[in-house]
Amino acid sequence: IVKTVGLRKSFGPNEVLKGIDLEVTQGEVLCILGPSGSGKSTLLRCINHLEVPNGGYVWVDGQIIGYELRKDVLHELTVKRLRAQQSQLGMVFQHFNLFAHRSVLGNVIEGPMVVRGLSRAEATERAMALLDLVGLAEKAEAWPAELSGGQKQRVAIARALAMEPRVMLFDEPTSALDPELVGEVLEVMRRLAASGTTMIVVTHEIGFAREVADRVVVMIDGEIRETGPAEAVLADPKDPRVRSFLGRVL
Ligand code: ATP
Ligand code: MG
Repeated sequence: IVKTVGLRKSFGPNEVLKGIDLEVTQGEVLCILGPSGSGKSTLLRCINHLEVPNGGYVWVDGQIIGYELRKDVLHELTVKRLRAQQSQLGMVFQHFNLFAHRSVLGNVIEGPMVVRGLSRAEATERAMALLDLVGLAEKAEAWPAELSGGQKQRVAIARALAMEPRVMLFDEPTSALDPELVGEVLEVMRRLAASGTTMIVVTHEIGFAREVADRVVVMIDGEIRETGPAEAVLADPKDPRVRSFLGRVL
């Protein structure tokens, strides 16, 4: 359902993605591991076109994302099309990025109302079901500032799900959390995975990867150096640099 071919991205002279070929099928959970600076966040941001790649292509559900922009025909229609394509990809960031001036419920209904044109009543009904799913229905009227980090991240997950994306992208969703709050967020993600949600998860949580991922890729210096079933990659990596990276984090 997501496919990248030869995806390249540079910042000035710094080549951060050196031709990434990746394919994620419907219902699959893919975990991306790799050292800091290896390009994991940049890859996710290129997949949803928050960054415009310098080369290669991203398909989501059979459509190339942002192709028209590449041809420099930047007009209203192509921007609209890009927004529609981006809304198929739900994104959860390390630092939550909630709207501070909206209640928990307000955060979750904003996108469906503004982007998808749902009525407030309909958006609220769906939002409450999602808040229930992440265990926060009773916090609907709270403000983000009143929540713990784990609760904020669960709201961020509900907000992303409210757009009914085809794929959920997670960028180190637990690495800004106090250790005792990591479990509640991973539990929500585990539940999503079990319900068949297609997920691409950048994480340092090796235990989560081992338990939940259908497949793991290890990125080093802008390249995929190893890919395969979690158990095989984690237990017996072939690439020496992957072995040394995993040796440090396992
Ligand atoms: P981490 O595990 O620390 O989050 P990462 O694997 O997500 O690392 P990226 O954030 O993708 O790594 O960054 C890869 C490289 O790209 C780094 O060298 C970083 O400095 C550079 N980089 C990322 N974003 C930008 C940007 N907007 N402008 C310039 N350089 C950038
Ligand atoms: Mg990152």
